[in-house]
Amino acid sequence: MYSPTAVVTGGAGFLGSHLCDKLLQENFSVICVDNLLTGSINNISHLSGHEKFSFIKHDVTNYIFIPGRVDYILHFASPASPIDYLKLPIQTLKVGSLGTHKALGLAKEKKATFLLASTSEVYGDPTIHPQSEEYWGNVNPIGPRGVYDEAKRFAEALTMAYHRYHGVNTRIVRIFNTYGPRMRADDGRALPTFIGQALKNEDITVFGDGSQTRSFCYVSDLIDGIFKLLMSQETEPVNIGNSEEITIRDFAKEVIRLTGSKSKIINTELPIDDPKVRQPDISKAKRILGWEPKIDRNKGLELTIKYFEDLLS
Ligand code: NAD
Ligand code: UDP
Repeated sequence: MYSPTAVVTGGAGFLGSHLCDKLLQENFSVICVDNLLTGSINNISHLSGHEKFSFIKHDVTNYIFIPGRVDYILHFASPASPIDYLKLPIQTLKVGSLGTHKALGLAKEKKATFLLASTSEVYGDPTIHPQSEEYWGNVNPIGPRGVYDEAKRFAEALTMAYHRYHGVNTRIVRIFNTYGPRMRADDGRALPTFIGQALKNEDITVFGDGSQTRSFCYVSDLIDGIFKLLMSQETEPVNIGNSEEITIRDFAKEVIRLTGSKSKIINTELPIDDPKVRQPDISKAKRILGWEPKIDRNKGLELTIKYFEDLLS
């Protein structure tokens, strides 16, 4: 039976490792390329010895050499949590720009289909709500988040240029906040931080007054949407996320309730340029991919809390 080959950059990260699992389930051969900057070998250790899986430790800002046929390249390498990209500003800019250039070059050479993991951060602190793919965004290029937002905006521009000028078959997914097992407990994002704090009965650190909103998508839903996009013919960006929106204050209360924690909420300083609202308009994904999320926050949090409980014990 024909088995396509996919290269997943950032495949040892949270999302990349779930993507490797999904592609193997779909009978792909998978080559994971990762320099373990923010990822971990633990995320892919269960795949060690799998006959269709291989791992190459490599920084994709340098030339990527892969011998043989490659049918798909899924470019997921990049620090992704605000804490990570504030600590790693230059690496973030380099992997979004130079890394995307190398990954697109590989796609052109191999005549492979290329998928870019972009982000809702291309919309910045949005003035349109919810955010649809037509919105061009409101990004501060020189603020601390600019290193991530502008790198991803450049990556989208480069992807479209390779598509239009070199005829590379490309996809762009704009991923909204996604959570689930294999998130790092210390990546500083609200969800693992709140769960960790709640399980240890420590204060829950809500930044600002907590009136800012986010919409959280469970990882299996996201990966299903990305696979559908990869298999489609859509070359323009597609939002994938869960449109159920909640304030961060209410989200902290929800985590306390679901963990049965004694934690109290405290308010600390709001980071610069923290988006005030975020909710994906997913009507395009519904229409062209026939995709919508299936796991609600109650179920997704139950599974994720269980994962962090096991990790802590
Ligand atoms: P992650 O940090 O867990 O994974 C990123 C992976 O990329 C890590 O394994 C890291 O070691 C690797 N990496 C970084 N720089 C590299 C380089 N130069 N060469 C090779 N490997 C490198 O983050 P994640 O949450 O899994 O995010 C994966 C992708 O999805 C990122 O591109 C991110 O921008 C995008 N995304 C994620 C979310 C989310 O909610 N998790 C939301 C929007 C977009
Ligand atoms: N946040 C918070 N407490 C934390 C971590 C994050 O209140 O300990 C807030 C953060 O300011 C943002 C929201 O939670 O408004 C989501 O942050 P996250 O880091 O998860 O990702 P973002 O959506 O900002 O990329």
